[in-house]
Amino acid sequence: MSLPPLVEPAAELTVDEVRRYSRHLIIPDVGMDGQKRLKNAKVLCVGAGGLGSPALMYLAAAGVGTLGIVEFDTVDESNLQRQIIHGQADIGRSKAESARDSVKEINPYVNVILHETRLDVDNVKEIFAQYDLIVDGTDNFATRYLVNDAAVLLGKPYVWGSIYRFDGQASVFWAEHGPCYRCLYPEAPPPGMVPSCAEGGVLGVLCASIGAIQVTEAIKLLAGIGEPLVGRLMIYDALEMQYRQVKVRKDPDCALCGENPTVTDLIDYDAFCGVVSDEAQAAALGSTITPKQLKQWQDDKEDIFLVDVREPGEYEIVNIPGATLIPKGDFLMGNALERMPQDKKIVLHCKTGVRSAEVLAVLHSAGFADAVHLGSGVIGWVNQIEPEKPVY
Ligand SMILES: [Zn+2]
Repeated sequence: MSLPPLVEPAAELTVDEVRRYSRHLIIPDVGMDGQKRLKNAKVLCVGAGGLGSPALMYLAAAGVGTLGIVEFDTVDESNLQRQIIHGQADIGRSKAESARDSVKEINPYVNVILHETRLDVDNVKEIFAQYDLIVDGTDNFATRYLVNDAAVLLGKPYVWGSIYRFDGQASVFWAEHGPCYRCLYPEAPPPGMVPSCAEGGVLGVLCASIGAIQVTEAIKLLAGIGEPLVGRLMIYDALEMQYRQVKVRKDPDCALCGENPTVTDLIDYDAFCGVVSDEAQAAALGSTITPKQLKQWQDDKEDIFLVDVREPGEYEIVNIPGATLIPKGDFLMGNALERMPQDKKIVLHCKTGVRSAEVLAVLHSAGFADAVHLGSGVIGWVNQIEPEKPVY
């Protein structure tokens, strides 16, 4: 599948620009036309960290005319092992300003726009609307889903990448032409299941491998050349030195870009991705199930005791068949434990998996080691199993 160029060409290149970009200009597939499109392009990089560093540097060198940078953090010494857009003298400085200075040093013809803010539901659409293409260099699931959802809602393509230890992944998500991130990953992993780079580490140079794929795809989309990485997931294993790719299909049941979407506007991403205590995170690790697993157990007539730990008002709005309502507070007070059966598998759920993870920690420490919880809560259940029911 080849796609038309994302942007129209600029009127002309200056003599200085022709000199600078000459090695692009003599590639037939780029040429004057492609370079003028890059000049006219507006690309936003979310994050100036591990992936944002190589992405911004190569986008700048390539002659992308306008580069936006979303970043609120400051440069820490532990960043320098991989975030090569910053240097020793930048420690303690604003990452956005440090990145801008490096971009300007690489290519003074680039117009740099700084968004020194944390991307959130209140500002993401306004920021994204100013750009042709987004490069996602975020390192957490809440922002990742926020980027995806905003891009889909605005009809913008974005180039996604992720890195962990020796492994990286990249793809282009553009709901108009293929799947979105939610088609690939409908639910955020249970809180505590996937450690961040800060917890798990990352090989510094891996950022360059994945960032380079992202920039390559960005240039192809902007200039309308080659086969974009739409509908394909690139998986890189640095230890084996293997790149492989898998097809990603658009999911007709996708909550966001599917035929009957249940997510029609931005949501609470911290709740969706789970923000829970260390105890709850530890309890959820290995004791988290999906809506499909729960449905399977119900269909198989497994002997389970399903407990809804939300409040009565929430239970009234929507509930899962067979669930017994015992609010979280009753567990924290201790008076709900005597109602827990010894001979059945206990399955907890709440709205999005945060409260049930907390209760799970209480149950585990009270000796109910088999107890599990529904990671995505009743919201995940409705999205996947009973889409006719309301969500709130
Ligand atoms: Zn989708």
